Amino acid sequence: MKFLYLILLFFSSYSLSAQQVFDRKLKLMGSSFEIIVVEKDSTKANVYIDLAIEEISRIEKLISSWDSASQTSEIIRNAGIKPVKVDTELIQLIERSKRISELTDGAFDISYASMDKLWKFDGSMTELPTETEMTNSVARVGFENIIINKENQTVFLKNKGMKIGFGAIGKGYAADRAKELLILRGVKAGIINASGDMNTWGKQPNGDEWDIAITNPLNKNKAFAILPISNHAVVTSGNYEKYVVFDGIRYTHIIDPRSGYPATGIISVTVFAPKAEIADALATSIFVMGTEVGIDRVNQLAQIECIIIDNDGNIHKSQHIKIN
Ligand code: ADP
Ligand code: MG
Repeated sequence: MKFLYLILLFFSSYSLSAQQVFDRKLKLMGSSFEIIVVEKDSTKANVYIDLAIEEISRIEKLISSWDSASQTSEIIRNAGIKPVKVDTELIQLIERSKRISELTDGAFDISYASMDKLWKFDGSMTELPTETEMTNSVARVGFENIIINKENQTVFLKNKGMKIGFGAIGKGYAADRAKELLILRGVKAGIINASGDMNTWGKQPNGDEWDIAITNPLNKNKAFAILPISNHAVVTSGNYEKYVVFDGIRYTHIIDPRSGYPATGIISVTVFAPKAEIADALATSIFVMGTEVGIDRVNQLAQIECIIIDNDGNIHKSQHIKIN
């Protein structure tokens, strides 16, 4: 009995040490993605990485509002005209998005997208939008005007000019799906990194948890916290990558759907959650809600934590984050 036990132990530790980390970086959904899997050999690892990429590309085709062939574009083209029949998967994503809008009092709203003509973060903006432009644009925003008919499997944007966009939730959703798929295929550990939005499962080959370093954007070289993340998602939204500056004021790419103005006061929000989708959406929402409301809301949600860095460089944490 003892002998058998020893052999088993030997085999298990042998196979454990043969595990390696394989990774691939590439552009998906207009962002840089990294797929990491823990496997024994590279052939297998590559098959799994290909699978994850296929899954993320499939989702991109469904939800992209740039791709005129996507079902999302079809919904937008028919705004104010007629309901459009779409896949259940898209209906469910829109339903969950609407639920997050309710949870955040409209700070998160996929119909913010009708304002994407006013605010551009590709260097093409030359002046601030006028008051009239803003008023007209905000009038088209409103998640309650995204009408879902489950029986007919349709989505209808009630008003002409309405738009939807999954910029604040799509990467998280895709990361969750890719992770689920690989777990289903038997991949024991890995990370889907959607341009800094991390979604992990399992452990490193040496048996340690995956760790994540949290940095202050004002001092990127020095991590102020290193936290273990196993089977968890960590998503950061920051105002330091996409923004425009007018008269010395920085306008970020996260917009308050209720005012039409970019959210102010926060530099970065990091959200920890069991799923990347909710972490992604909440990180964007907290930017809009602001520090106080954001922390308060997170403290009411089970298994969700956040770290906020405000404009003055102050660090705010939700109740279960333990850092010095
Ligand atoms: P990133 O994609 O840069 O990581 P976020 O996840 O915070 O950042 O998403 C920001 C994107 O979400 C914007 O570029 C825009 O497409 C979209 N967006 C902006 N404001 C809102 C909002 N209030 N609700 C929903 N989506 C938004
Ligand atoms: Mg987001």
